[in-house]
Amino acid sequence: MNVSDSERIARSLAPLGYVPALSADQADLVVVNTCSVRAKAEQKAFSLLGQLAAVKVRRPELVVVVAGCVAQQEGERIRERAPHVDLVLGTRAVHRLGALLMRLRTHSRTLVDVGMDEPPDEPVETPGAADRNGVSRFVTVMRGCDNFCAYCVVPYVRGREISRSPEAILHEIRGLCAAGVREVTLLGQNVNSYGAKEGICSFAQLLEQVNTVKDLARIRFTTSHPKDLTAELIRSFASLEKLCAHIHLPVQSGSNRVLACMNRRYTREHYLDNVAKLRNSHRQISVTSDIIVGFPGETRTDFEATLGLMQQVEFDSVFAFMYSDRPNTPARLLSDKVPEREKRERLHAVLALQDGITAAKHQSLVGSVQEVLAEGFSKRPAAAGAAEGFGQQWTGRTRGNKIVHFFDAGSDANADFIRPGRLVQVRIERALAHSLWGRLERDPAGP
Ligand code: SF4
Repeated sequence: MNVSDSERIARSLAPLGYVPALSADQADLVVVNTCSVRAKAEQKAFSLLGQLAAVKVRRPELVVVVAGCVAQQEGERIRERAPHVDLVLGTRAVHRLGALLMRLRTHSRTLVDVGMDEPPDEPVETPGAADRNGVSRFVTVMRGCDNFCAYCVVPYVRGREISRSPEAILHEIRGLCAAGVREVTLLGQNVNSYGAKEGICSFAQLLEQVNTVKDLARIRFTTSHPKDLTAELIRSFASLEKLCAHIHLPVQSGSNRVLACMNRRYTREHYLDNVAKLRNSHRQISVTSDIIVGFPGETRTDFEATLGLMQQVEFDSVFAFMYSDRPNTPARLLSDKVPEREKRERLHAVLALQDGITAAKHQSLVGSVQEVLAEGFSKRPAAAGAAEGFGQQWTGRTRGNKIVHFFDAGSDANADFIRPGRLVQVRIERALAHSLWGRLERDPAGP
């Protein structure tokens, strides 16, 4: 969501004449888009703001904007820690950025806009140069969250759930496809509850409609809450040909006791049952997850239950984090905090276990042919010896969301064949720690 917001901010600045600068030293305007999901991310944001204070001393005309969840959370208080900030832009004020920049011209104090009165369907912007690539785009389908997990700051900084209408979403996707986009990732804090509050339609029904969009090749979505994963949505993986076989399903802990303290409202057994149903629906589905280690009161036995669940599920990858207290959350008031050193050790154990599982998963794909959506030239250096006799190295993702670096097999015909947005078949030849390497399977000029 944060990456998507950054893209949105960049797009809204383009019509005002802004273009990306190479560094803060050369910029007229710097927007620090912040995340407050963990204490460390927030500290980094304030550290960057400290560096910008020095730039602003040299060039007082520089405009400094703080956006995102820290902006929403701190509001006026940002001024106390960073008096050089010109504008505090809350999570639901992005569409007011242009007007606020205009107001700044005649305003001598920091402007603060943390209002939550965002319309669900703001005007659609067209893809811009600041986006990740011209092939794949995020499309927000809902904002906010009503779940109030005990550790999570999101409901406080992004507000209550609000869903966009299917018409607006489809209109946006059609516009993106007309501009060359081939893959969309439908975004929401908990997409499974899309439309429930408004009585619009289920998320699975929205996917069905998106699946009909001409020229769209792939659909992804994130994030799903395990308690709201419906049988209808699970069936979509089998029935919708454009829906990629990947689900990010944050488990957070393998201990029922910890899950209850986290207010996650599902059990380990329910989660495992969901995974089994997903794999029954689509044999090759990739399942990725989030894990928090060191939630207050997490015992060694609780932690081992998490490791046990990871071994049982064999996730394709996980994002693992050490618990940290966040403002307003109930968990910060819990007294039985896990020492930092213990949290670090648990995090290392999770990452080491997952590295082994991911390596085995990657290795099992060697020799297989995968459909890859070509995104562009790869920035990664070619694997040793791999580039000999071949052309440019490309990058893309499999349907299971694995990054693949691949070569065009040295054929001139292929040079024209591969272009960003094309679905190609790649034979996987090597498993790397975080990606795969392969080469284009067939010469398109051949039989
Ligand atoms: S579902 Fe829980 S963890 Fe996810 S955004 Fe909502 S409150 Fe946070």
